[in-house]
Amino acid sequence: MPGESAFVGIGSNLDDPRGQVLRGLRALETLPRSTLLRRSPLYRSAPVDADGPDFVNAVALLRTGLTALELLAALQAIEQRHGRVRSGHHAPRTLDLDLLLYGTQSIDGPALRVPHPRLQQRAFVLRPLLDIDPTLTAPGLGSLAGWLDATREQRLQRIEDS
Ligand code: ADP
Ligand code: MG
Repeated sequence: MPGESAFVGIGSNLDDPRGQVLRGLRALETLPRSTLLRRSPLYRSAPVDADGPDFVNAVALLRTGLTALELLAALQAIEQRHGRVRSGHHAPRTLDLDLLLYGTQSIDGPALRVPHPRLQQRAFVLRPLLDIDPTLTAPGLGSLAGWLDATREQRLQRIEDS
């Protein structure tokens, strides 16, 4: 299949977070020039450096013909459609979509950094990524499984299978 593999992190801690994440996944299925290949189980996590109630998180694997910046713009359009309130960085949000990995590319631009800069510090990203592919590697980070142990103190509960 042509295109790149892209991993997208999905999170919500407002307005029925589980429903928001499931709606986010359905929206990803409608992205142009893209196919949703897999999704992780759903997890519940304590806010790490955000405020408010617990998050529901998941990760999706896409195959996409969009460039990384086109994909970021499409993710932001979905966030807007789902009523994301941008009341500040790390504020509670109805739907947060992060581009975690885009093929094997490293991107360090003003609007987009890939791999996502805090990916390896967050159990709610690492665990679902590794559910999809236990052997996953990322540029600059190596095997992602090697980072999991450092996040073991973070509260994370699998709430639903994929
Ligand atoms: P959080 O880091 O908690 O997800 P936000 O979603 O509010 O915070 O951050 C969004 C900003 O981060 C956007 O302006 C976007 O341009 C920038 N950004 C940089 N790299 C990425 C990425 N890999 N995925 C999503 N947004 C990114
Ligand atoms: Mg984000």
